[in-house]
Amino acid sequence: MADTLPAAKAEKIFAVKGMNDILPADSSRWEWFEQHVRELMSSYAYGSIRTPIVEHTQLFVKGTGETTDIVEKEMYSFEDRLNGEQLTLRPENTPGVVGAAIEHNLTYDGGKRLFYMGPMFRHERPQRGRYRQFYQLGAEALGFAGPELDVELMLMVWQLFQRLGLRDIRVELNSLGLPPERLAHKAALVSYFEQHADVLDADSQRRLRTNPLRILDTKNPAMQALVQGAPQLLSFLQEASLAHFETVTSLLTGCGVPWRINPRLVRGLDYYSHTVFEFITDELGAQGTLCGGGRYDGLFEMLGAKPTAAVGWGMGIERVLELMQVQGVQIPSPAPDAYAVIPDALALPVVMQTLLMLRTAGVTVQMHAGQHEGLGSMKSQFKRADTSGARFALVFGADELAQNMVTVKSLRDGSGAQVRQPLSDVLQWAPTLQSRA
Ligand code: ATP
Ligand code: MG
Repeated sequence: MADTLPAAKAEKIFAVKGMNDILPADSSRWEWFEQHVRELMSSYAYGSIRTPIVEHTQLFVKGTGETTDIVEKEMYSFEDRLNGEQLTLRPENTPGVVGAAIEHNLTYDGGKRLFYMGPMFRHERPQRGRYRQFYQLGAEALGFAGPELDVELMLMVWQLFQRLGLRDIRVELNSLGLPPERLAHKAALVSYFEQHADVLDADSQRRLRTNPLRILDTKNPAMQALVQGAPQLLSFLQEASLAHFETVTSLLTGCGVPWRINPRLVRGLDYYSHTVFEFITDELGAQGTLCGGGRYDGLFEMLGAKPTAAVGWGMGIERVLELMQVQGVQIPSPAPDAYAVIPDALALPVVMQTLLMLRTAGVTVQMHAGQHEGLGSMKSQFKRADTSGARFALVFGADELAQNMVTVKSLRDGSGAQVRQPLSDVLQWAPTLQSRA
């Protein structure tokens, strides 16, 4: 068919709004971050978990909460055309992790400490630090009730930011106490807001009936004074809740983590109890919350399982990477150690065998490849070697090969120094090419 019909000009298809390609120039930063995360998680003995991206919509309606922004207006939900199931692209991973823990009875022999990294989906207005597909790193400790776990999780975040070389990140804390304490606070809150109903915006009017705690979360400047004067949850906490919170703050202080109480920190999600926290920067404009989390002892029950204590956090990876850029954090260069220059295709068998050995020895090496048939002139190959950022060129010229040698030419130190090395003894000189040799 393609032979006989004139080809119609194909329309270009671009990425969906709010969903981004991560190109090679950026992906080295992502990988550097991920590597730090893996080291950190293993140093805390957290194992990784990967749950499905598509889940039953009910998991989030129950697990995230019907009256949250996420469930009310941000979910990508759809009906499976083949069997009519109601499905959703995960907007967050905590319900998925807890769902998996319940389904596979992960906490049967004590607690489990887990982390995940992956894409989440929320239909929000895209802007700096806010996307429709974004990536979260998260950690969850399931089956542990003690306040020391709240602290362990916060320490991880603190230490990760330090290892990444980030500065000036605030830790804000609050306690949401236990359900009866929240109920008493809620009653006081509702009556307070009812007395000032004239100041409430439409969103808050609605929340007054659905989820009054969320009014404290408002970003509306006209309501700030009202919200400042609202009854505080902390003053409704009883002894046990206060003791939990007091242990959290004193352990944090003992570990050298500065913190401050933010009585308005209530977090958007329904499932929290006791400690809630956020890590915030002032250097990313309105999207300054890098990480948020807390204790959610009620979630297992809400998903139909027996009560199980749990605490965790989620972190927006794009925001963290952006802050690294804003603060000028340098990452190691992703450039290869060496670039193989191949004057004649006849050399390819020797070239490819040699590069195999070099890579086995831990050298990173990029082989020259032509854009069209043929390999191109030496001049153009050296130009490519230069733009690759490699510190050495390996020249597999006919002269060299006749002597079973390769020329190693220095590209970066300005000396242009070159030495011939024997192909029969690659492992001997391979370490001289490595930046960490
Ligand atoms: P925000 O108040 O900024 O909307 P949130 O309370 O909805 O955040 P969480 O559900 O707690 O966020 O998610 C944890 C972290 O994930 C946030 O602190 C943020 O760093 C990141 N995050 C949340 N939504 C987005 C998004 N749409 N794009 C990029 N990162 C996001
Ligand atoms: Mg949000």
